[in-house]
Amino acid sequence: MSNLPKPLQDVVERFSSLPGIGPKSALRMAMAILKWPEVQAQGLGQSILALRKSLAICSQCGSLADSDPCPICSDPARYNGQICVVGEWDSLLVMEEAGGYRGRYFILGGLLSPLDGVQPQDLEIDRLKAFLRQDDVRELILALGTTGDAEATGSYLKNMVDKEFPQVSITRLAQGIPLGSEVKYMDRNTLRQSLQYRQAL
Ligand SMILES: [Zn+2]
Repeated sequence: MSNLPKPLQDVVERFSSLPGIGPKSALRMAMAILKWPEVQAQGLGQSILALRKSLAICSQCGSLADSDPCPICSDPARYNGQICVVGEWDSLLVMEEAGGYRGRYFILGGLLSPLDGVQPQDLEIDRLKAFLRQDDVRELILALGTTGDAEATGSYLKNMVDKEFPQVSITRLAQGIPLGSEVKYMDRNTLRQSLQYRQAL
């Protein structure tokens, strides 16, 4: 792509640094923007600048919002006794979209990953402890997924909570058969987990 005119090459290079965008897609995007009316292209530039300027990280839960504290942390109707811990902010969005949860959140900023060298000090553990020191927290719900990193993070958090916050109970999202699936199509590990975490009817 080095024979592109310089301004086009600049844009292509910036776009292709985004996740999932290769140089060819970046060029297609840049060409599409070139065909836009000038005011539309300006709008794109301005909204990117506004993204940097007006987006805040909530000092309580760590989520992205246009205010600090974020709308969830400042909502008096949310239950302060439950904190749902997620790895990244996009998990919070999905949980909210699913509906039914009226507690608050905490974003860890990733998961422990012994193989990739992600240690507890790389995550927001100190801020989580500050959150848990609030008198009314009764339950920490782990919504971290079922990967090896999620398991490592979950057991670290469980040890930490058991030791330092014995008044807080720690739970995790149920694991098992997805809604609408049949037992015969389940993989062995999911099935084993489902048996282990079976429920009384
Ligand atoms: Zn918040």
